[in-house]
Amino acid sequence: MPVSDYQMVEAWKQVLTLSRLEAGQTVTILTGPATHPQTLSTALIAVQSIGATVNRLDLPPVNGEKALSRDALAYLGTTALTGNRAAIAALKASDLVLDLMTLLFSPEQLDILRAGTKILLAVEPPEILARLVPTAGDRERVLAAQQRIAGARQMHIVSAAGTDLRCPLGEFQPIAEYGFVDEPGRWDHWPSGFALTFPNDGTAHGRIVIDRGDIILPQKCYVREPVQLTVEGGYVTQIDGGIEAELLSEYMATFDDKEAYAISHIGWGLQPRAHWSTLGLYDREATLGMDARAFEGNFLFSLGPNNEAGGNRTTACHIDVPLRHCDVFLDGEAVVRNGVVLDH
Ligand code: FE
Repeated sequence: MPVSDYQMVEAWKQVLTLSRLEAGQTVTILTGPATHPQTLSTALIAVQSIGATVNRLDLPPVNGEKALSRDALAYLGTTALTGNRAAIAALKASDLVLDLMTLLFSPEQLDILRAGTKILLAVEPPEILARLVPTAGDRERVLAAQQRIAGARQMHIVSAAGTDLRCPLGEFQPIAEYGFVDEPGRWDHWPSGFALTFPNDGTAHGRIVIDRGDIILPQKCYVREPVQLTVEGGYVTQIDGGIEAELLSEYMATFDDKEAYAISHIGWGLQPRAHWSTLGLYDREATLGMDARAFEGNFLFSLGPNNEAGGNRTTACHIDVPLRHCDVFLDGEAVVRNGVVLDH
């Protein structure tokens, strides 16, 4: 159902206040062909209501002819900033960038963040943004999970469906995504609510079973029969199962890139206002599937790049898979038990 402009202005004000936007600062709103007009118009009002200066920077789309879907998170190639010195200069000179076009990770984006500019991605439809407005409490909870990961040497994930995956940790810093940007140089995504890290390169091993009801993104489907992934030396080396396994295999093979099969980010969902079932209510092109990525107690893993965390691996292919009903252990201590977060 639609939300009112008033609700969206209030939602933006909350996000901007949590992001410590102050009068006199400069905000640049990045837009593109897929930017939602209500999200944009209400962001413009909310920024001005705080007394900040607001700019718009509209950038052309890229990669449309290469990507196999319209999902903005499905294809990680060059961005509209690649070689675009004027745009980069404008963003570096801004205190805050509101990314309403999906810039995604790139050397240029990391360069902008290093200049101290904050970047907040917000591209889900307005009603999803309004339902999942972040809170200070979200931040506390996600930071606590990040802290637990920071001290661990191994993440071990098991499930009754057959998942048994071991991921040595320590090479990469854990990341907290809680939906706002309260520190200089911080990137975040509204909506979110999860903590994640990356296994030491080339070390994850075991088996992942994507069970009935689990979700594959960007396919945005609920799996109807189990898909089994064999993981050796940090890479998926075999994909077994029925038609969904074949669809996943064929899709990944189109990238013709062995790095597509690397185990990427691993972590768990901590957002009680996100729901496993929501994806089933939406047309697939109407959402990125952030409910699926953030719902409380999932084990979310990804296949593809690790450059977000400072690793060397880039690949255009990006698969995210939230699993239900997993146990997640850090150095033998359960942090999620059968899909329930153990932090209370
Ligand atoms: Fe991912």
